[in-house]
Amino acid sequence: MAVTRRPTRRDVVRGAAAAAAAALACPSFAQGAPRVAVVGGGFGGAACARALRRLDAQIQVTLIEPNRTFTACPLSNEVIVGLRELPLQQFTYDKIAAEGIAVAPQAATKIDAQARSIGLADGTSLSYDRLVLAPGIDMRFDALPGYDEAASAKMPHAWKAGEQTLLLRRQLEAMDDGGLVVIAVPAAPLRCPPAPYERASLIAHYLKARKPRAKILVLDAKDNYSQQKLFESAWKTLYPDMIERISLSQGGRVTSVNPATNEIVTDFGNYTAAVANVIPPQRAGRIAAIAGTADRTGWCPIDPVTFASKLVPNIHVIGDACIAGAIPKSASAAAAQGKACAAAIVNAFAGGPVETPRLDGACYNIVAPGYGFSLKGIYQPKDDQYAETDVTTSPLDAPPDVRQREAEQAADWFKTLTGDTFG
Ligand code: FAD
Repeated sequence: MAVTRRPTRRDVVRGAAAAAAAALACPSFAQGAPRVAVVGGGFGGAACARALRRLDAQIQVTLIEPNRTFTACPLSNEVIVGLRELPLQQFTYDKIAAEGIAVAPQAATKIDAQARSIGLADGTSLSYDRLVLAPGIDMRFDALPGYDEAASAKMPHAWKAGEQTLLLRRQLEAMDDGGLVVIAVPAAPLRCPPAPYERASLIAHYLKARKPRAKILVLDAKDNYSQQKLFESAWKTLYPDMIERISLSQGGRVTSVNPATNEIVTDFGNYTAAVANVIPPQRAGRIAAIAGTADRTGWCPIDPVTFASKLVPNIHVIGDACIAGAIPKSASAAAAQGKACAAAIVNAFAGGPVETPRLDGACYNIVAPGYGFSLKGIYQPKDDQYAETDVTTSPLDAPPDVRQREAEQAADWFKTLTGDTFG
């Protein structure tokens, strides 16, 4: 999923003018440069920190992220089936730090919005004028009976890339031919809505070559999903009789699991998996709730123009954690939101009005090496939410060279996005 923000005139705010205007607009800056803290160094947070610094070098930007290396999810389905290795997914913060951004290798554990202060895991604290939260997702380990953090060591979700990705890969490699792979898909909203079906496709590709008697069962808490016709057509052509999907109305919603037996229970049946990939319901990363920015849904309502929290002043929320209407939760959406949020903060410091963002999106899916398709959309705020104003999907009957080109474009997209964000 690639979403880019079109640069606007207002993005380029001269540092001195911004600092001067900020001193007038915000009395607390009179003593020094404005301080922006960004919590979370994933696609959203890293893009936002970098854009803030590039738009206004006067702003003191601190990026708070406990991991020294970021492991990206896009293309991680290829890692699961051995088409790619994990180090290609990993990026350091060295280049970000070299641009003058202070990188704090800590988890944020407390937010005091009144005092505008962040508590870090090492017991220290940090003050801010504006705070951007970009913590991504956490699994709701209380939402699916039987599925807690310990269960994920037996039934991996692989919905945060890293050790979980490798665990699922090892389980597939160790599985006997003829085994059943079950992928449990939660109801929306979830991180990267088409990724479970991309995963089913690539696992089918792996099994077809290595364990041709094995089958994949997708147990789905949804009836319909993004780019469904394209996936179904690809499955029919590439993997006939290998993938079965049971939708919500057919009884596909998983109601409980038993990690001791690898049993998965739905409204209408019980299945015993050789490999169980259980993707549980999700919510915004925990710090969003600690800050008071998450509502009862577990996600964070925002003003779509500035990404300002609707619940807590001086805090913005971007990326998977926020409620962004029609924009799917994706890496490129997170990065585009990070840039748009940075521009809004810089303009707020300068006392200027913010232009309405317009985000262009493209979503690529790889169903086999050299076989990709995409969905492209344009998103703009409408009625206090993001709406899709235009959308183009790959044609259903595209010839192989078009599918090949789209697979190549997906790889280029990843290089460009990660280069822009971390490189
Ligand atoms: P993340 O990138 O998850 O970053 C969050 C960061 O916050 C993490 O580094 C975390 O350590 C940090 N953090 C959390 N809590 C704290 C705290 N308390 N203090 C400090 N730091 C904290 N998207 C696409 O666009 N295209 C794809 O092809 C694609 N494929 C995908 C495939 C799979 C299998 C999956 C699971 C996802 C895929 N995605 C894809 C989605 C994409 O990975 C996410 O949407 C994206 O990473 C969201 O960015 P983010 O910045 O919101 O969160």
